[in-house]
Amino acid sequence: MRLSQAHINTLREVPGEAEIPSHIWLLRSGMIRKTVSGIYGFMPFGWRTVRKIEAIIREEMDASGAQEILMSAMQPAELWRESGRWFAYGPELWRVEDRHGREFCLGPTAEEVFTDIVRNEIDSHRRLPLNLYQIQTKYRDEARPRYGLMRSREFIMKDAYSFDRDWEGLDRSYRAMYDAYEKIFSRCGLAFRPVDADSGAMGGRDTQEFIALCEYGENDVVYCEHCEMAATAERAAGADAAPSNEAVLPVAEAPTPGAKTIEAVADCLGLPKEKTVKALLFAVHDEQGLKEYVAAFIRGDRELNMTKLVNALGVAEHMIEFADERAMGAATGSVAGYTGPTGLHDCRIVVDSELPGLRNLCAGACKEGYHLLNVNYGRDYEGDIVTDLKLVGEGDPCPVCGEPLSVARGIEVGQIFKLGTKYSESMGARYRDENQEEQLIVMGCYGIGVTRTMAAVVEQNHDDKGIIWPMSVAPYHVIVTLVKPDDATQRAAAERVYADLIDEGVEALLDDRDERPGVKFNDADILGVPIRITVGKKAVEGIVEYKPRRATEAMELPAEEAIARAAATVRAEIRGKR
Ligand code: ATP
Ligand code: MG
Repeated sequence: MRLSQAHINTLREVPGEAEIPSHIWLLRSGMIRKTVSGIYGFMPFGWRTVRKIEAIIREEMDASGAQEILMSAMQPAELWRESGRWFAYGPELWRVEDRHGREFCLGPTAEEVFTDIVRNEIDSHRRLPLNLYQIQTKYRDEARPRYGLMRSREFIMKDAYSFDRDWEGLDRSYRAMYDAYEKIFSRCGLAFRPVDADSGAMGGRDTQEFIALCEYGENDVVYCEHCEMAATAERAAGADAAPSNEAVLPVAEAPTPGAKTIEAVADCLGLPKEKTVKALLFAVHDEQGLKEYVAAFIRGDRELNMTKLVNALGVAEHMIEFADERAMGAATGSVAGYTGPTGLHDCRIVVDSELPGLRNLCAGACKEGYHLLNVNYGRDYEGDIVTDLKLVGEGDPCPVCGEPLSVARGIEVGQIFKLGTKYSESMGARYRDENQEEQLIVMGCYGIGVTRTMAAVVEQNHDDKGIIWPMSVAPYHVIVTLVKPDDATQRAAAERVYADLIDEGVEALLDDRDERPGVKFNDADILGVPIRITVGKKAVEGIVEYKPRRATEAMELPAEEAIARAAATVRAEIRGKR
């Protein structure tokens, strides 16, 4: 491609809305353009990278035995009602109506649609296992679209669904996807980590997320340097403090005027925060409206893990919100800033698993200006649910080996999930086994964010001049920079290098624009082309400059040698990832 004819448009200024490197560089390089908040289009160079990531995904998915199909992004509401997700998916589901008032959604994922295909077309065990996938545009009306392609409202996803006769079959399908994902993300040039993830309110099913490690990631990964433990922060199990063997003391009321936070209470009474109990008050809504109030209790120095709470309650995240304290107070006896587990009524009480083992804690008295001392589980209160609610952080003990945990930031680029029979049960997807008996199909689902992967690659591969594409996903491999287009010798030499590179199978660019050399070098850096060959003054001697994007210095080489080196590097770096 000649840059004089290419549609490129690099920006000198950082666009106002861009905060993180991938967003800044994808906009500045002109690879993506915003249509409206959370919705982006891909310009020629950006689209080439998307297609390369897709090609890697296709090759590895096909090699695993999966088959590609393409379903519509438009999905009928009836299917989502069958699975129960029309309500449960919440406001992220992008609902639309046709002119007859028939409801649809723009698919955020496609379990229902794929289950529907399979229940209609598969009846015998002989047709299983099966893994179908698509690479398709997905829609999620995210509450906070941000960071460009990282969290957008429209994005490209590879979604695959496996259908097996039994759980052993699912284990094999899941393992095959795990292996394919490792290859895909390595070939894309990502540093990533597979970690155990939260499986939602259904519980008990294996799921792992592939997290690309990066500073601005939205996910915390908790891992142990001393054992294999690695999980998302939502999923990581908290270790309970050792039970106390203190003698149980009688309850006493203590005045704590104005002390409405754990810090204030601890200060006021001269107690360490570990001797206090923190209350968090919620209202749960369902389709009919307010369903119930919930009070969660956790040791005063801990943080609540919302995912663990919604899983314990068996509700979706959008169904729960902080309670209006006045309304909740009237209904349950809670008092803003002074709520404790003793004296509450008409409210579900969820207690963190370590509280029953602790003694003589200080908790709110459910009375304005007072706390209770020496509150003990069993004698003074009980929980409707007792479960781990702790958010695990840096330095907390590893739930497996007890050593201090580490935390890293990253972004989820893929997830694999053992669904089991969740959808085949609700939607009636069955097959006949060898004895002609009907059995539920056992399913898995496997997603990769294609466009998010592109952003993650930039997040990990850039400097202060622009993107540094890994060869495998670079829009082009080599850029030939012609310093003086009006110099006939230079032009002829550059044309020859360009043509020879293409003959070698290299995807080459020729910067033949009538621009200053500084502009051309800057653009080559912003665009992140992995190798630059500069044809300038020494063209008369047959000498060019060769510079890998990461190198600080260029080296002078005879033109043929530069071509051979570039071609060998391209082949090695693409093949090396396979
Ligand atoms: P997140 O927790 O980041 O919202 P998710 O767990 O809801 O993601 P999945 O349903 O597992 O996402 O979707 C599969 C993949 O699609 C994710 O691993 C991610 O790479 C990608 N993805 C999900 N939401 C978005 C989004 N809003 N923008 C870009 N990619 C996304
Ligand atoms: Mg996910």
